Amino acid sequence: MDQLGTVLYKETLNREDLVLLLGLRRPADVARLRARALDVMRAEVGDSVFYRGIIELSNVCACDCNYCGIRASNAKVERYTLSEQEVMDGARWCAEAGYGSLVLQAGERSDPGFRDTISHLVRRIRAESVLPGLPQGLGITLSLGEQPLETYRQWHAAGAHRYLLRIETTHPGLFATIHPPAQSLAARMQALADLDAAGFLVGTGVMIGIPGQTLEMLADDILFFRDHPIDMIGMGPWLPHDDTPMGAWPQPLAAEAQLQLSLNMIAAVRLACPDVNIAATTALQAMVPDGRERGLSFGANVTMPNLTPVHARGNYKLYEGKPCMDEAREECRGCLMGRVESVGRTVALNQWGDPPAFARRGGGDRAPW
Ligand code: SAM
Repeated sequence: MDQLGTVLYKETLNREDLVLLLGLRRPADVARLRARALDVMRAEVGDSVFYRGIIELSNVCACDCNYCGIRASNAKVERYTLSEQEVMDGARWCAEAGYGSLVLQAGERSDPGFRDTISHLVRRIRAESVLPGLPQGLGITLSLGEQPLETYRQWHAAGAHRYLLRIETTHPGLFATIHPPAQSLAARMQALADLDAAGFLVGTGVMIGIPGQTLEMLADDILFFRDHPIDMIGMGPWLPHDDTPMGAWPQPLAAEAQLQLSLNMIAAVRLACPDVNIAATTALQAMVPDGRERGLSFGANVTMPNLTPVHARGNYKLYEGKPCMDEAREECRGCLMGRVESVGRTVALNQWGDPPAFARRGGGDRAPW
């Protein structure tokens, strides 16, 4: 067997193996990686694609991440917070469409008013989204940034059970370059540990193609996912936003290379962490119209249709070229179903779609935080 063949079938990948996989560019090699990732996906999490309808409920943010279009210092953004009615309408639509799960995402705020509003919304959504096909109501994922452990506990007790908080990069130097001094990698790690302690299924991820990022750093990110209690991974290309400090930074990779690296990351994560859920993210679709389908064909099994009211979407622009800015949720539903089916997969409706990783790690096969 050649070197690639050996790596693709190895039980435990090391840093060198991962660097080899991430750097694949020859179409024949990429095809082998993709085929192996799909085999592992089918064996470990099945062939279905799970939907998480996402509502971007507010772009008010206290953080000033150097890459993000809704950073606190971007004065060009019109700030919004959806009304309770708008969130509940979106949640009801999500349940009736059979999506099974909902993500509430927003910029970061940690005042008591915000904390209690989220708890209230979570309770209402769980109670009011119960349908004959969805007896427990919608599964709720939160993506609301770093919060005190007590807040995480309160939101979990209210009925949310999954949380997404990207580490963005596990490399201390790179983390410091893309964040202001007030934000630290140590605090992000602590927040992930707190989410686990609060009982959440924990999702994290990184941006790919950040200036200064190497294949070795990305390999280390994957080892971090594997060696910590992580259940879900969402990764996508870093894309510049004009009104951010990083907007003028030269793109280190040509678009095609950045896209391939992002797809190789999905496949490599599938091999290293076989039983996690992996999202085919919107940022992939910002690079090429079929970006999310390509993500699914490299081993992803989750996608997140946007349910944010169209009037607010323009103000939740994290990067230039964000797709589906004016597509109503009904149109989006049909479009995305077609996209999933175009790669021979089917959507599992009316299911929470939790990854086997969470149940299995009860067995203690990965180190706690
Ligand atoms: N405030 C929450 C948080 O920080 O986790 C959730 C919202 S935040 C905008 C969601 C994610 O958007 C971040 O984790 C980051 O990876 C991604 N993001 C922001 N700006 C981006 C950019 N320019 N390119 C790609 N992804 C970006």
